[in-house]
Amino acid sequence: MARVAYVNGRYVPFAQAKVHVEDRGFQFADGVYEVVALKDGNLVDCDGHVTRLERSLRELRMVMPLPRRVLELVMREMMHRNQVNTGLLYLQVTRGAARRDFGFPRRTAPTLVITVRPKRVFVPETLVDQGIRVITIPDIRWKRRDIKSVALLPQVLGKQRAIDAGAFEAWQVDDHGYVTEGCSSNAWIVTTDGTLVTRHADNEILNGITRLSILDLAKAAGFGVQIRPFTVEEAHNAREAFMTSASTFVLPITRIDDRPIGDGRPGPLGQQLRQAYIGLADGRST
Ligand code: PMP
Repeated sequence: MARVAYVNGRYVPFAQAKVHVEDRGFQFADGVYEVVALKDGNLVDCDGHVTRLERSLRELRMVMPLPRRVLELVMREMMHRNQVNTGLLYLQVTRGAARRDFGFPRRTAPTLVITVRPKRVFVPETLVDQGIRVITIPDIRWKRRDIKSVALLPQVLGKQRAIDAGAFEAWQVDDHGYVTEGCSSNAWIVTTDGTLVTRHADNEILNGITRLSILDLAKAAGFGVQIRPFTVEEAHNAREAFMTSASTFVLPITRIDDRPIGDGRPGPLGQQLRQAYIGLADGRST
């Protein structure tokens, strides 16, 4: 089955999918995106992702390229046309193609691109069993991290630092020593007294859709939750740590920098929440 991309109203063969050289996404990173997991034919947390897309667009004074219902139909159609029922769907909206000028172009239609790719498991099972390593790096990003902008250069550099260090993710740290979030994930710890901690969602972090669902699942499971910043030192001394994102769900962290976390094995709270989120992704109520 040939891979298909959706570009501005048309389903086109993947190899021929193109946007204009003067697209503002290419020229200025003037656009936003979403990543939605597909699990056994379900668009996982679809409502949350489309709601965040609407918000990101509104914050940049852009409009939805399609009415919400139609967009969701196209997302499902992409899943079917590509015959991918477990994988990732990428959706990107830019302010469109126009003569290169900083100010907003008038009467330019937005660019909408959607692609889908298969991914069998959400991360290799060994990573889930053994946990991953993260490093900590300074957060060098702009001040509107709540917008899911395609301007991802700090994250590209951060992830490469992680790869170079043999780690899976890099946790970014603000000027006061507090962890903001991963390069493409939200950051969580469990304190020695068993309290789940994650940073509050303001302009300093992207409010992860997985984060929001995990918060609901944690509260439903009766876990103690604190929404507050935590320092690198607190993370080093935590009982557990994990990250959340649409593409990895919940991934246990067993090493931060050179420090083992807890007993060096994935912790029970993170594992329970991962299973609960898989249940949600499968459309089961937990
Ligand atoms: N923070 C950042 C910076 C991200 O790029 C992502 C992944 N898109 C997340 C958090 C997690 O968000 P979500 O759970 O919606 O994938």
